[in-house]
Amino acid sequence: MKCILIMVGTELLNGATLDTNSVFMAEELNKVGIKIDLKLTVGDSLDKIINAISFAKKNTDLVILSGGLGATDDDLTKKAISGFLNKKLTVDNVELEELKKKFLDLNIEFLKKNHKEVEKPEGAISIKNDVGMAPAFYVDGIAAFPGVPKELYNMFPKFLKYYTNKFCPSLDPIYIKDIIVSGIPESILEEKIKEFFVEPEIEYEFLVKDYGIIVRMQTTDTYKNTVEKIKEKIYNSIGEYILGEDKEKVEDKIFNLLKKKKYTFSVAESCTGGMLSSIIVGIPGISEFFKEGLVTYSNDSKIDRLKIEKNLIERHGAVSKEVAEEMVKGLNTDIGISTTGIAGPNGGSEEKPVGLVYIGVKVKNKVKSFKFNFKGDREKIRRKTALHSLFELYKMLEEDE
Ligand code: ATP
Ligand code: MG
Repeated sequence: MKCILIMVGTELLNGATLDTNSVFMAEELNKVGIKIDLKLTVGDSLDKIINAISFAKKNTDLVILSGGLGATDDDLTKKAISGFLNKKLTVDNVELEELKKKFLDLNIEFLKKNHKEVEKPEGAISIKNDVGMAPAFYVDGIAAFPGVPKELYNMFPKFLKYYTNKFCPSLDPIYIKDIIVSGIPESILEEKIKEFFVEPEIEYEFLVKDYGIIVRMQTTDTYKNTVEKIKEKIYNSIGEYILGEDKEKVEDKIFNLLKKKKYTFSVAESCTGGMLSSIIVGIPGISEFFKEGLVTYSNDSKIDRLKIEKNLIERHGAVSKEVAEEMVKGLNTDIGISTTGIAGPNGGSEEKPVGLVYIGVKVKNKVKSFKFNFKGDREKIRRKTALHSLFELYKMLEEDE
């Protein structure tokens, strides 16, 4: 079973809106085992939408549209579908009453043009909209959804349930296993684990992210057990670099360990300038453990707040292993992280190039430092520093008995 997505909206073509709807749909389609052949984006033009539908209809099983389903004049998707199928737009009285009630409940005047919200091509079935006005619909191999993400998220899974039950009940859902790895270069990682990738039914992929590399295995539910066996081999080979699986986040894993150990936590940030604290305070419930995040950006601040000796900074420079270690020692909690580095684009030298970062980590009376040479722009280097520092902390917490 295959589909083509058509994203409707001039704002998607001119960059005013980022198309996130197709990302959501891709994930949902993946889950049920419907493959996406192609994705088209088309502006708010009746002819162009009809052309796109006509092309898609010839080339796939299911056509899915998002956007342009509303009641304003630039919303042309319904007109395009009914034009293409040569079917009249009709209004179901029950749906019209439901719509009127929604307007009444919200205290909004119901205008004549709002009828458009519940119009659909003759013979179409509606998908109930629990969070907005216009229902989505399906007719003759074409499904249409509003562009508003919240509404799409509500109706798309319901539609897929209906569609797969009716048209492809024996589909083998897609199964994806992501193993998140950090601290090992891609080429070495590949060398170490490629020998396990021999099953032809499983697609293997390396996705490089700021926080590391995702080793992705994609197959169908039938081969779930095979994936589990390969996963075990990967753990045996490079377990020390594995950060987690699927959507697991390192900060959540740290939080789980903190709940067990009841350690207090603080950070001293130089190059990350609050980014690390921001990630940490994004964890609901962290206030029980997280005491403070200091942005000790200048040398003076490092000296004043963290009690680092002035001449240590003079001798080694602020971006150094020694200073990273002293910074983290200057924190008075059970565990801590310090960051110091050259985020660029200026300030680098041959000896200390842009991207050079030292991270200090403390777990009780154990202090370690880590050196990195990150690539990327200022934002990326700061982000990588924050994420890798959390990873190093997590590893030390795991080792801590
Ligand atoms: P409405 O009834 O609100 O007019 P609609 O189905 O006509 O809904 P659009 O007018 O195309 O939808 O888009 C409504 C809003 O949804 C846009 O302003 C935009 O913010 C968002 N949107 C549209 N398409 C996408 C998309 N592909 N990804 C993310 N957001 C989108
Ligand atoms: Mg609209």
